[in-house]
Amino acid sequence: MSSIDEIGSIIRRAALLNAVKHGGRAETGAVMGRILAERPDLRSVIKELAGLCNKTVKEINQLSLSDQRRILEETWPGTLTEAKQRERRMLPPLPNAEKYAHVVTRFSPNPDCVLHIGSTRAIILCHEYARMYDGRFVLRFEDTDPRLKRPKLEFYDLIEEDILWLGCKWDEKVIQSDRMHLYYEWAERLLETSGAYVCTCNREAFRALALASKPCPDRDLEPSEQLARWEKMLDGTYTEKEALVRVKTDLDHPNPAVRDWPALRIIDTEGTPHPRVGSKYRIWPLYNMACGVDDHLLGISHIIRGKEHLTNEVRQRFMYKNLGWTYPETLHYGRLKVIGAELSKSRILRLVQERAVSGFTDPRLATLSALRRRGIAPETLRLLIMEIGPRPVDATLSWENIYAINRKVIDDKADRFFFLEDPVQMTIGGVPKTYVSNPALHPDHPERGTRRLEVKPSGRKANLLISSSDARKLGEGRFIRLMELFNIDVLSVKGDLVEAKFRSDSYEDARKTGAPLLQWLPPTDNIDVSLTMTDGEVMQGLGEKALFHAGVGEVVQLVRVGFGRIDSRSSNRVEIFFAHG
Ligand SMILES: [Zn+2]
Repeated sequence: MSSIDEIGSIIRRAALLNAVKHGGRAETGAVMGRILAERPDLRSVIKELAGLCNKTVKEINQLSLSDQRRILEETWPGTLTEAKQRERRMLPPLPNAEKYAHVVTRFSPNPDCVLHIGSTRAIILCHEYARMYDGRFVLRFEDTDPRLKRPKLEFYDLIEEDILWLGCKWDEKVIQSDRMHLYYEWAERLLETSGAYVCTCNREAFRALALASKPCPDRDLEPSEQLARWEKMLDGTYTEKEALVRVKTDLDHPNPAVRDWPALRIIDTEGTPHPRVGSKYRIWPLYNMACGVDDHLLGISHIIRGKEHLTNEVRQRFMYKNLGWTYPETLHYGRLKVIGAELSKSRILRLVQERAVSGFTDPRLATLSALRRRGIAPETLRLLIMEIGPRPVDATLSWENIYAINRKVIDDKADRFFFLEDPVQMTIGGVPKTYVSNPALHPDHPERGTRRLEVKPSGRKANLLISSSDARKLGEGRFIRLMELFNIDVLSVKGDLVEAKFRSDSYEDARKTGAPLLQWLPPTDNIDVSLTMTDGEVMQGLGEKALFHAGVGEVVQLVRVGFGRIDSRSSNRVEIFFAHG
């Protein structure tokens, strides 16, 4: 336990810091929150702490801002700088940002699935860098594969929703299937200038040539012949696989997969129409063509993406050279792995398709919509990504890492409520009077108000409810405190019935002996609560009436159970998705 002097000093420092941060006025709730976040052990003396905080904040708010700042700096040197750094963790500078009039970054998802936690790194880094340099952040849907990575209309919207939820609003949005004419235009330019050619080899024949660093026989045909063949690709003379456009590279490049890479191919969209443009186009750009052309045309200054794209940079640089373009700066970060989270889009799609999960928001998935549904805050993901940054080394996280941050982020917002899983009845004898308990909605925020729980004995006998899992742990003679109520001795536990006897009011009695604290509910006037856990299991139970005041989307703390988010409500029922303990 800390001495009074030490606590006084902790409060003074926190209050001064809070005052300086807010133009000279500290706020007791915020100061308390800060102290309890750093020193959770002080919760045991929360009443005394609140009193002292109140007094200190009043004193400090009488000082001028410059006095507050001076005292803080003199007594605790470095505190201000430290706090600032913690608040705005800066990303390392971008390479050669000064070379560009504007820093422009892009996030370019394929709308063939919703986003998952793995996508947050690209989104948050690109958005943050654009903000840091007062630049622009472009959202670009890469939807030019109507066959294998088939886009779906619903995913365009869901992805936008996810990005907005993360707080990363884009400055400009483009959709590649709206820009087909541009890829055609630059394909023709490449064919005219011998930067590309129409290859009519079959796949195996081309592969054999490429492996031997030998040119395909079509490679050096005249541009006029290339353009004539391009026409035949357009008008349907060539069918699928009979011809494709290849970008010329160094045939001796050490990586055979780079040699004369495919840029545009024919896809018969009669059979697999594109969800936005139907069967309007026969020729579709492949990833490196569409992405490479767009990065240039959209003025992307910095490409920030995973290191699995390193070979794509090598490929695209050949096209840029052939077109006389300058390649943007690149930043390739390492892989982000979350232990126990499925981050493969194809597997997520399969789980949903096969109904192994209830949908994209199923709590077992690490999709952004599932995290949102459970009450993982976007701020948590932002703090996490800012911490990892754009480093090229791989990063492995556990759910526990994420929960630890989220706990700090949501604790201050989450009001407290009692919830009992599968409640059982407790009968208490010797209750001397009616007890009305008014626990605070949040212990650090008295201004938010209180709940009201009443225990009314009839002939000194009172009934209330506790959770069955608590009941199972009780034994005869056990001394218990019912939270915010009174202390009891357990007399007997028989199946679903617990008999107890009133002992005393004082919290001190319970604290001194380390008696366990149980949450409880009055026998009536409660609401049905279903709590969906992270493994998809649904726990049924009862919650206190005050839960009705928590709106859908609100994050709450179920005392001794954990944090969760209100998913839906009806007249007598609340559904909550569990976040973490
Ligand atoms: Zn060929």
